[in-house]
Amino acid sequence: MTASIIDGLAIAQRLRKTLAEQITVLKTPPGLAVVLVGDNPASQVYVRNKSKAADEVGIKSSTYRLDQQTTEIQLLDLVMKLNNDSEIHGILVQLPLPAHIDSQKIIASINPDKDVDGFHPINAGKLSIGLHSLVPCTPQGCMILIREATSHLKGKRALVLGRSNIVGKPIANLLLQADCTVTIAHSRTENLANECRAADIVIAALGKPQFVQGDWIKAGALVIDVGINRVDDPQNPGKTKLVGDVDFKQASQRAAAITPVPGGVGPMTIACLLKNTLQAATKAN
Ligand code: NDP
Repeated sequence: MTASIIDGLAIAQRLRKTLAEQITVLKTPPGLAVVLVGDNPASQVYVRNKSKAADEVGIKSSTYRLDQQTTEIQLLDLVMKLNNDSEIHGILVQLPLPAHIDSQKIIASINPDKDVDGFHPINAGKLSIGLHSLVPCTPQGCMILIREATSHLKGKRALVLGRSNIVGKPIANLLLQADCTVTIAHSRTENLANECRAADIVIAALGKPQFVQGDWIKAGALVIDVGINRVDDPQNPGKTKLVGDVDFKQASQRAAAITPVPGGVGPMTIACLLKNTLQAATKAN
């Protein structure tokens, strides 16, 4: 079997086009504040991409760049200011924050109605009890890709590899709400390969390059690869390339459908951030 490739880029573009159309008819554009503390190169790229994508669909984005030495109090003050700004509907504080700042404290200080990352404890709690909330972007994007690939989720065995608060746990909650039978695996899970072999849907979110082997994939399974890992490119000495957490080449010989890296989950994450910003603006107005 050769898997069909789930084209996250095309699906994200479609979603962004729909959002742009919905935003055109609003009286005032949604406002998104993106806060970056320090000079982490990957974070700088993410923040630039998010602001650019926001502007392209008609969201008014403003980026706040604070230096590495910014104190927790200074950051809390900025979040308070943004919470009280009626033209800002979404606030995103780019993670990771410098070690001297307590990320949980900052996340908890964001108005839950403006928490477009969906990381606030109120939004996480609402998601876990099935109430309408701002859902974290990557898990939301994964669900859109899953539903593009199949409409048969009820009773399917889903394995989520990874239990982080921003990816693994929220995806598991969404799959549970879609009536899947969900297993969450982590670094202490025994017989991971066997867990995988039993799964109809595998979501890999471990952060380990090409960790999931092709022969762990059940024939006909659906594979969503969340991982983004930069590794040396053997074909281009001295250069690097991005790979996922799944051995794509092997796994696509067994899966029915699979997401590539890059071009799978990544573009959906940004598209869902825009979707959440529109949702927050619509609620505010
Ligand atoms: P974390 O490091 O927070 O979590 C990794 C999880 O994987 C942990 O729960 C850990 O278990 C588990 N894990 C690690 N090693 C193993 C192992 N050998 N066997 C089983 N489980 C293991 O990562 P994130 O959730 O933040 O991100 C995961 C991946 O997704 C990363 O590659 C990240 O870059 C990518 N990502 C991609 C996004 C996108 O837009 N495509 C967005 C966000 C993340 P334990 O809890 O026991 O330590």
